[in-house]
Amino acid sequence: MSDPHPNLLPGGCHCGAVRLEFATALTPQDTAPRACDCDFCRKHGAAYVSDPTGRLRIRVADAAGLLAYRQGSEAALFRLCARCGVLVAVTYEQDGRLYAAVNATALDRRDAFLPAVDASPQLLSREQKIERWTRLWVGDVAVTGSG
Ligand SMILES: [Zn+2]
Repeated sequence: MSDPHPNLLPGGCHCGAVRLEFATALTPQDTAPRACDCDFCRKHGAAYVSDPTGRLRIRVADAAGLLAYRQGSEAALFRLCARCGVLVAVTYEQDGRLYAAVNATALDRRDAFLPAVDASPQLLSREQKIERWTRLWVGDVAVTGSG
């Protein structure tokens, strides 16, 4: 059997309080992150990657170190370091399961990715977004203490 997660892509925020481990079949040189054109993501320069077969671990020393910002009435939560403010991922929880898209600019190998392509999720209805997130985002996500 082949390894479903051949690539381990570490990353994290600027100050080191929030660490990412993204295990994925994606290879950065074949992957164009999606630059969401909403005002929040553009202010952060965020561009997302996701892999429904991937696995994401967000490690923080304590839960208060990871902010969750909800934009307007949206169902997804933007996750930011409480100390340095770097946006590391966006998450959505449904039926006790956490889904996520990773901000590729927070990954150590961000420069290895293809140029980002624009995405306009604002054009989708809430139902369309949720259908998309649960189908395309990383489906094995956990936020854990790093001790
Ligand atoms: Zn930080």
